[in-house]
Amino acid sequence: MAPMMFAVGFLVLHTTRLGYGLPVLKRRVVESRRDAVEMAFLAAIFVGTVVLPLVYLTKPQSLAFAEYDAWRWLPWVGAPSMIGASWLFWRSHADLGRNWSVTLELREDHTLITHGIYERIRHPMYAAVWLWGIGQLLLLPNWLAGGANLLAFIPLYLVRVPREERMMLDHFGVAYRSYMRRTGRVWPRRAGDD
Ligand code: SAH
Repeated sequence: MAPMMFAVGFLVLHTTRLGYGLPVLKRRVVESRRDAVEMAFLAAIFVGTVVLPLVYLTKPQSLAFAEYDAWRWLPWVGAPSMIGASWLFWRSHADLGRNWSVTLELREDHTLITHGIYERIRHPMYAAVWLWGIGQLLLLPNWLAGGANLLAFIPLYLVRVPREERMMLDHFGVAYRSYMRRTGRVWPRRAGDD
């Protein structure tokens, strides 16, 4: 049952990504900070969010060596995580629109988005991937397939966020600086923080 719940979220998340992401690929990239480190992270995240979950969902016996008996309550946390991830992923794609990129890039006529879900947090899409990773871990009773998402995403998040903010600061200057002051990374800033 829990893997079925995961499968629904998995489909929603990947459909959202393809639906919003594919049309954006046509837009010209004017600056790219994609390097070997980024490429390695992207490969790992592809394995963790696409390959291993798909292998588990279609041929679980091939990953039997990593199976374990999950506590019965895990889906009660895992399913809401996947629902939250699906909503946040969709909302951030809808708000970021044509400015989205799978890596550190700026596109032609790139605009700084500070409205919608971006009004309170700077990285809602990464917040969604945190929730997805937690959902995957709790809904797939397999250390490898369940843990692969967070295993790949945690280092990507830690390295990419400061680099992405540097790129945005270099390009948008004071506008991004003041946006940073008003917002939190994945959690809204408390009122009065300064
Ligand atoms: N970090 C954001 C966006 C992820 S997509 C999030 O988690 O929601 C990554 C690309 O989005 C970056 O390469 C950058 O070009 C773009 N980007 C990030 N924040 C942005 C913003 N506030 N407005 C416009 N583009 C942004």
